Amino acid sequence: METASIILLIIISGLLVIAAVVLLRALVPSSVQTPAMPAADGSLDTKSLSRHLLQAIRMQTISHQEKVQYKGEDFTYFHELLEMNFPLVHASLSREKVWEYSLLYTWKGRDESMKPILLMAHLDVVPAGPENGSAHPDLDGRIAEGYIWGKGTLDDKYAVLGILEAVENLLQEGCTPLRTIYLAFGHDEEMGGLGGAFHIASLLHARGVELEFVLDEGTPIINDILPGISRPVALVGIAEKANLYVELSVETGGGHPIMPPQDSAIGILSEVLDRLEKNRFPIRWELPVRKMLHALVPEMSFGNKILYANLWLFRRRVGKKLAASPWTNALIRTTMVPTVFEAGLGPKVLPSKAKAVMNLRLLPGDHVHEAIDRLKATANDPRVKIRPMERRITEHTFMSDTNSAGFRTIDRTIREVFPDVLVAPGLCLSETDSRYYSALTRSIFRFRPIRLRADNLQRYVHGSDEKISIEDYTQVVWFYKQLLLNSKSICGG
Ligand SMILES: [Zn+2]
Repeated sequence: METASIILLIIISGLLVIAAVVLLRALVPSSVQTPAMPAADGSLDTKSLSRHLLQAIRMQTISHQEKVQYKGEDFTYFHELLEMNFPLVHASLSREKVWEYSLLYTWKGRDESMKPILLMAHLDVVPAGPENGSAHPDLDGRIAEGYIWGKGTLDDKYAVLGILEAVENLLQEGCTPLRTIYLAFGHDEEMGGLGGAFHIASLLHARGVELEFVLDEGTPIINDILPGISRPVALVGIAEKANLYVELSVETGGGHPIMPPQDSAIGILSEVLDRLEKNRFPIRWELPVRKMLHALVPEMSFGNKILYANLWLFRRRVGKKLAASPWTNALIRTTMVPTVFEAGLGPKVLPSKAKAVMNLRLLPGDHVHEAIDRLKATANDPRVKIRPMERRITEHTFMSDTNSAGFRTIDRTIREVFPDVLVAPGLCLSETDSRYYSALTRSIFRFRPIRLRADNLQRYVHGSDEKISIEDYTQVVWFYKQLLLNSKSICGG
């Protein structure tokens, strides 16, 4: 045989082997979605659930960035409302006020050998945004068109109320837990949680508490999460991105607009911001995202399976695809965006200073100092000073174990209450108060048991016109009730 033919044969064989591997990798993995029996619904009184949530929404428990605006008495009113609406909870569980306005409930279990679990949520909301065009004022709250409207219906009063309704309901049914259950509601999550969550976690730590798992807010159930997946997906956050603010400032000699210098403060800073925007952090496939793909690829359409099951070959193509959507882009890279730009005193004055703040959201594995170094190198202008603003918390959270009892319990509960939903581990894009609990457990999970339909997606996370349908909210309560039952609460005894 001629040399050319041999080379051709080798190339063809090589291509066939690659094609076989690509096909095998796409076809062999079978679904990891473990079937669960749909649970009996929680026999819940939707009228009373809606009324309680509406009353909670109307509490003006706002986390203002300026401490002087903070009104503690509104939190006290909220506590009183909870006492009134959840009489059995307040008769059977012990309640401690931590750092004045945060609440820690303890539902004592009968079996001391079992590790307790802790369910979290936060009492505060961000201030109402500009309400122009809002159908309903954010903090007034109202029930209309089958929805409960108002700030907190998605973040995060629905969870405070949902958890308490579930416990009240279980108490009505005569349930007592085998393992101790803690309910922890911080009052300052929107300001960083250094008052509430931090001190509740420290208190439990000082008491020597070790937790089986923690469940906090996280990603809701959403559709169209990845190409080729038609079913809604519940991502259970096993890690979260870290939040970092960086200040960029420039100071020039100033001058006068009638004879401007070659470089103005605004011009210098704008150029640097432009460079930063055009030079994004590189794409990285961190473990939570790879685990997410592992759970979801078998559920994809065939064409997408070929791509997503073969990242070794199609990494660049898939990366490009995911980078095109803001949500999936944030899963695969550290992101940064300017959130503040300050300069200028008036149209006739040439400012000598300009300042911007960049908000970075770091992937697990990225360190603050490395991110700053990269920023400086990309900015590449010694006239611009770059410094991290005060960090509120440690850089990273660890990765929770998906083989743990906690993950399995949450996974099963989601499938029982939302039988049409796919469950996968994932990366939580925002910081949560749960990061303060890392000394108490290796199992911290973040999930929002709400179906977020397309029309509600934009309202999610601090948007105006937050709303939750009565049907979805009822499922929230049912989810927490089922979760508590699956975590070993015994009923009827
Ligand atoms: Zn929140």
